Amino acid sequence: MIEVKDLDVSFGSAQVLRGVDLHLERGKTVGVVGESGSGKSTLAKVLVGTVRAAAGSAVVDGVDIVAANRREMGAYRRRTQMIPQDPYSSLSPRRTIAQTLAEAVDPARARVATHEDLIAEWLTRVGLAPEMMHRFPHEFSGGQRQRIAIARGLIIDPHLIIADEITSALDVSVQAQILDLLAGIKDSLGVTMMFISHNLAVVQRVSDDVVVLYQGQVVEAGPVGQVYSDPQHWYTRRLLDADP
Ligand code: ATP
Ligand code: MG
Repeated sequence: MIEVKDLDVSFGSAQVLRGVDLHLERGKTVGVVGESGSGKSTLAKVLVGTVRAAAGSAVVDGVDIVAANRREMGAYRRRTQMIPQDPYSSLSPRRTIAQTLAEAVDPARARVATHEDLIAEWLTRVGLAPEMMHRFPHEFSGGQRQRIAIARGLIIDPHLIIADEITSALDVSVQAQILDLLAGIKDSLGVTMMFISHNLAVVQRVSDDVVVLYQGQVVEAGPVGQVYSDPQHWYTRRLLDADP
């Protein structure tokens, strides 16, 4: 479960998140929408532990990551995963897919042979042939690499997975395949997810709840169907009206 309260984040003199509240039950997905620069990725980075909040609290499965010490954060980071927008930048070009996945499962004992069955199972789950595990990232298409990134994020059974614009670099037909894949896996495993996207229809497809960020503040939050059909804030209405 995630309980964010009154979260403030600044970069130097610029306050990027102000008084952000967010509540999410385990196994549910929250969509985050808002214009470029509204603070979506910053919120994601606080939750994966790469940006430190100045004030407030963010409790994820019992750990307040705003107050946590270094040791607690080390353990926390291993249980929280981000699927990046461009997986090519985060998959090591010199490692086979099997090596990358083995390292995700157990950084201390990253022997492929030890984890081969689990790696094969996850490649199958994301729609790739298990024997592809011995290939390198450049031997895959963009959509296939995104499948690998999904497998890498989920293979460790994370308490939270964050998808930040994961389909924006893909063409529309591949986007749909990746979203269906992610939605199917997360539902079957009951993963808790934050889904960030510019695309309101895509957010509706995968999310239970939605949070609308405007200039670093949450201006509206609630079940996605309710917010989309009966928006209360002018900014939410403007976003929905602008959506094709
Ligand atoms: P986009 O939709 O374009 O991805 P976003 O909603 O994810 O936008 P953020 O990346 O969270 O927006 O950025 C929010 C604000 O914080 C922006 O004004 C940005 O310039 C600023 N910002 C983000 N990261 C840093 C940083 N490391 N140092 C200084 N300012 C930053
Ligand atoms: Mg962003």
